[in-house]
This record gives sequence, structure tokens and C-alpha cells, in this order.
Amino acid sequence: MRARGLDALLLTSLPNLRWLTGFTGSNGLCVVTARRSVFVSDPRYTLQSREEVQGFRRVISPRGLFDTAAENRLLSGCRSVGFESQHVTHAQYRTMRRIFGPLSFHPTDDLVEDLAMVKDNGELALLRQAVRITDDAFRHVLEVIRPGVRELDVAAEITYFQKRAGAERDAFETIVAGGERGALPHARASSRKLRAGDLVILDFGCTVGGYSSDLTRTVAVGKASIRARKIYGVVREAQAAAVAAAHGGMRARDLDAVARTAIAAAGYGRYFIHSLGHGLGIRVHERPRVSAMSTELLRTGSVITIEPGIYIPGFGGVRIEDDVVLGEKACRVLNTAPRELIEV
Ligand code: ZN
Ligand code: ZN
Repeated sequence: MRARGLDALLLTSLPNLRWLTGFTGSNGLCVVTARRSVFVSDPRYTLQSREEVQGFRRVISPRGLFDTAAENRLLSGCRSVGFESQHVTHAQYRTMRRIFGPLSFHPTDDLVEDLAMVKDNGELALLRQAVRITDDAFRHVLEVIRPGVRELDVAAEITYFQKRAGAERDAFETIVAGGERGALPHARASSRKLRAGDLVILDFGCTVGGYSSDLTRTVAVGKASIRARKIYGVVREAQAAAVAAAHGGMRARDLDAVARTAIAAAGYGRYFIHSLGHGLGIRVHERPRVSAMSTELLRTGSVITIEPGIYIPGFGGVRIEDDVVLGEKACRVLNTAPRELIEV
């Protein structure tokens, strides 16, 4: 804060509030200055914030969040205030300007995201728990996948299993994409019925204590074709090569290149149409971006996904994704779900 010449930070993004204060509700802000750490919310969250919010003075009022902050003089004595411009709507910004007129506001995006990149042991324990539930859900759902079952039924089974196993929710909308739909990297589960010979991409995760897992496996319904096996083998090797190469201190783009080069060498370069991975934590997609364009260095203690894929229009796709913790010289894979091609 001081290095950026700021007297205060005004934080409004809910994932960052959760990371900083523990608050899991849907309306709040916090003000941090050299002397004050104050959390503001409305009366729906009086009891909840009392239980959840640690280390912050709490101010609860039915008035708007910014009005409450102003009435309680939370920014008094401040001149220059950092705010999360990527999480503030234009209307909110106008309200801020109106209420805090003379203050100067400066975008401080990525400040909390930067701090949140390296996980502490408590965060890693929650991530591990989420990963374990997701791995178990994968093993369980293998019993459900067969010809005639709809993608939506498979997705519902995953959700049900994860919640029964202790997850607070799905980390994102589950992807179940069979046959030619597998060529759409972000296909949602549909009412399409699985058919013998399909490759099915399953991409799902769950959230425990605010922290999310993110797993992808591709399985064959019945016997996989020679073409399917070939493509699976290429993705499998590219994924393993990237996992073997990943460590803190390397450039994110260099890690992306390991998988991209392997897939290109096998002749499928133009079918790997997304970045290799992303940071994982209180957000499902957080920094660092592990892409060919990224200028970031990977940090020891970050958790990232490694998820190369090949998507062939009219045929289908293969993706394999694991969550890893970056160490100084190597990485540790958190997932235990099998990676060989499973024919169910
Ligand atoms: Zn995923
Ligand atoms: Zn992912």
C-alpha cells in the first residue's frame, strides 16, 4: 500500500473479501488503512459476519455500503485510495465519486490476487480436501457412465456425490461432453445420450472452505478407436511432460511451451486451442495464467492446473487436468484419479 503511495484500500470483490476476512456472504466491503481494518455489511449478515469475520472491526448498517463507510468516517484522513477497478461497476464508481468526492481513487487490481497466489498450509489443506472429494467422485461416476445415459445425468451424479462427501458446492458448472461435443472445450453437460465408442470429457471440481479443485479426465464409452487411443496418448504424454517440468521460479510461458511443443511434434498443434493452465484457490481461475502469452513467473507455493487438450471438430476431444503445488525444483500433483485411458 505504502509502496504505491496509497493511504487506504477499499476492497469490494467477494472472493478477495473472503480471502482477507473470512466473510462468505454476498454484500460487503472492507477498508484497510495503516491504522484501521474495518468490514462493512448489511443487517442480513449481522450474525454471520460475527462468526466469520476475523481481525476486522465490523460495521453493520441497512444503508448502502459506501454511505455507511462515509458516515463512519472510515476514510477520514486519507487522500489517495486504492480500489479494485475490475470488480467495480461504472454505477458503483459514480457512487464512490459522489460520496467520497475529494478523494483520489487509483486502480489497484491484482494487489490481493498477488498476495493470494502463494498458499499457506491451511489453504493447502482445504485444497487437498476438495481435490480428494473430486478424485473420489471421478472413481464413483465411472460406475454411472454407459451408453444411453445423458450427460446431464452424469453431471448430476457428480454434484450429488461431491456434496454428500462434504463439498459446499460444485466449483463451477460441470462439463460432461461426449463424442463430437468433446471438441468444445467448455461444453456444458447436455441432454445428449452417451454412445458406445464416445470419448467423454469430464471436467469438474468442488469447493471446500472456499477453496476449489478442478479435475479433467477423458474416458471411453466401450472400446476406444485407434484414433482415440492415439490422441489420448499424445495428450497424456504432453501432460506428463509439463508436470515433470513444472516448478517455482520458471516462466509460465515456458511451462506452457513444454506441453504445446509435445502436442505440435505429434502433429496436433493447431488442435490445442487454449492455455495450459491457471492458478487455483479461492477462485477457480486465478493468477498465474499459464499461457503462451503470459509474462509471469511461477511462484513456489502456488497451486496451478496443468490441462493440455486436443479438440478435433466433428470427432471430439481429449483433455487431462491435474492440480499441482509448485515446489522450488519440482511440483507435487494433488490428484490421485487414474490418468490412463479407461474404457467403461
Ligand atoms: Zn477444469
Ligand atoms: Zn482448469
